[in-house]
Amino acid sequence: MAILVTGGAGYIGSHIVDLLIRKGYETVVVDHLAAGHRQAVHPKAAFYEGDIRSQDFLNSVLSGERIEAVFHFAASSLVGESMKNPLHYYDNNVLGSLNLLKALDTHKVKQLVFSSTAAVYGEAKSQPIQEDAPLKPASPYGETKLAIERMLHWWAQASGARFVSLRYFNAAGAKASGGIGEDHQNETHLIPIILQAALGKRESVSIFGDDYPTKDGTCIRDYIHVEDLAEAHLLALRYLEAGGKSNVFNLGGSKGISVKEVIETAAEVTNRWFKVTIAPRRSGDPAELVASSEKARSLLNWQPKKTSIRQIVEDAWSWHRSHPDGYPKS
Ligand code: UDP
Repeated sequence: MAILVTGGAGYIGSHIVDLLIRKGYETVVVDHLAAGHRQAVHPKAAFYEGDIRSQDFLNSVLSGERIEAVFHFAASSLVGESMKNPLHYYDNNVLGSLNLLKALDTHKVKQLVFSSTAAVYGEAKSQPIQEDAPLKPASPYGETKLAIERMLHWWAQASGARFVSLRYFNAAGAKASGGIGEDHQNETHLIPIILQAALGKRESVSIFGDDYPTKDGTCIRDYIHVEDLAEAHLLALRYLEAGGKSNVFNLGGSKGISVKEVIETAAEVTNRWFKVTIAPRRSGDPAELVASSEKARSLLNWQPKKTSIRQIVEDAWSWHRSHPDGYPKS
């Protein structure tokens, strides 16, 4: 029996595929390579290029493989882009997931781990955010992920399937031993943007707003190392394999770090000068997002190891330094 990973050529997906293979799981990846990279997929994984919005494509993969569980990453995942093009998010995320669940029903696959997001909370009233906090997404990205969580709930209830939804805070870093890392076509994430500036690949770093009601006026986020995130996915799979009921978990380092603090850490780690400017706020950005990950720690026995922002930036820096232009273009 094998594990299916949708979006397994993407940044987070490729780290989970790498871990699954190292743990001895037979792994099948589907990805349409709109944002993912073929070179990011572990060579021992079976790879099918295609779009999960195609029922024929999914049926052909699921007919040829014996899938026991699915990690569902395939989605568009940028807050800013979703504000400008919400319908694309409904199409790719909601329609893609609906199509996937139909195919899973057809092939009687009943375990799924879903890649959700802290963006489902929107501007939370109190921090750190617990899983039962009000769900008020401030962007179409968060809204589509929440719609999928609700769909999973009713799907699981009707079909007897079980799912775990993992709401990540800010994934960052790269596999410390190298080979895979973050490479987006139009990079919008803070840490890679800073490191590209440190490499001289962009002129400057813009701080999106320094007038937020936070300690230094810049947005506060909770950064989590992608290797710790991968470990949590494996634990979620084992939880389902052991018969665990459908559940939702936050995944974060439980520490709030401001944009300015990330920039200062990156300046220290890289020991390079880069220009920093203050820009207007980016729409859809909540002032603060910090997780309470107590539930994942107690129920999944998750113990994140690389929780300091310095370690996260160091591992991201070794990826960026060794791959200044990302994955080789084939
Ligand atoms: N940010 C910034 N400048 C950039 C990119 C991001 O100031 O060039 C800020 C952004 O406004 C947010 C934080 O950095 O407060 C993290 O943004 P990112 O896009 O990395 O992740 P998100 O929190 O949107 O998932």
